[in-house]
Amino acid sequence: MKIKIEYVWLDGYTPEPNLRSKIKIVDYVNPSKLILEDIPNWGFDGSSTKQAEGNFSDCYLKPIRLYRTSNVSDTVYVLCEVLDGDNKIHESNTRALVGDEDTDFWFGFEQEYFIRSGHNKPILGFNDSIVDPQGKYYCGVGGNMVGRNISEQHLDMCLKYDINIEGTNAEVALGQWEYQIFEKGKLKSSDDLWMSRYFLFKIAEKYGYQIELHPKPIVNGEWNGSGMHTNFSNKKMREVGGEEYFNSIFKSFATRTKEHIDNYGSDNHLRLTGKFETQSIDRFSWGFSDRGASIRVPKIVSENWTGYLEDRRPASHADPYKIVKVISDTLNFADELYKTLQMMYNDIKIEEIENKYGTITNEELLKDYKEE
Ligand code: ADP
Ligand code: MN
Ligand code: MN
Ligand code: MN
Repeated sequence: MKIKIEYVWLDGYTPEPNLRSKIKIVDYVNPSKLILEDIPNWGFDGSSTKQAEGNFSDCYLKPIRLYRTSNVSDTVYVLCEVLDGDNKIHESNTRALVGDEDTDFWFGFEQEYFIRSGHNKPILGFNDSIVDPQGKYYCGVGGNMVGRNISEQHLDMCLKYDINIEGTNAEVALGQWEYQIFEKGKLKSSDDLWMSRYFLFKIAEKYGYQIELHPKPIVNGEWNGSGMHTNFSNKKMREVGGEEYFNSIFKSFATRTKEHIDNYGSDNHLRLTGKFETQSIDRFSWGFSDRGASIRVPKIVSENWTGYLEDRRPASHADPYKIVKVISDTLNFADELYKTLQMMYNDIKIEEIENKYGTITNEELLKDYKEE
């Protein structure tokens, strides 16, 4: 039976890549049993996606995750990694930087977005003569709302293709919506987020609309920007926790602020202003239930110091591979810091440490301990 397979990949544009796709028809004897290994590698013209020069233009598509339904006549979607002309990892491949899958890490992305009434056209709802100010749109219902059909169709399509979408809601600005994707694993969560964006773009396209993932599309007036709050946990946070362990996490994040911001999407300074439920881009803070902090500690976590944290800084168009890479690295560093501090506490007085090391960064501190 002939099956439509839609290959989806990320192009070579910077700072944020775009989604690309094309369809291949493949004849299968038993399509109901189709698995990832049955999908052939494919190729494309990398000179049209900023991934190759014209005189050496072939790039290759290596399928890495399959999205299908139980109905064999439905299109099969396959997310791919790009290989260069020599069949090596392509330099645009940020997924490769994440490393091996690790299901100890859980990620929940809150993807916010605006809907435009067309390409380069105003945000949906903004071409009408009278626009109500921000206030009643968040989780709103009634004649002032726009774009709900997009949000609901997207929800259905994600569910149909077994993407673990956990919910959706109208956001604070007019024409702005959110959905949440949760998965166990650095790669699974990020792959599903990219495919969920692909579905969203395709659905909007049918209506002549365009999805706007820019973090601050409306700069005039009092309107929220879009983020992609990233909720994260590792096994130790969920099962052991403890105030000291969480403190080493906060310290590790605090010393790596620039690295995090560098990986959380371009133009984010337009959104992280300290207003509209954000912390300013050049400050780091954490707080209980604090929506003006860089990292929010959910109330439930503060009760017994186990669970997850919410990094509120990532921008709506950020690359999830970069986000999970930097967060998992920082958590691994926090583990090391915590272990070293635990060993130290057993035989060294805390005041002495503070006197000696009070002004240096965690990295320097750790290096010093190790050398001793
Ligand atoms: P809010 O809008 O209040 O910030 P949401 O309900 O939109 O919160 O999103 C919370 C997200 O946190 C969901 O995507 C959920 O899956 C995720 N989450 C819940 N528990 C964990 C956990 N232990 N580890 C990682 N993410 C989690
Ligand atoms: Mn939310
Ligand atoms: Mn939100
Ligand atoms: Mn949130």
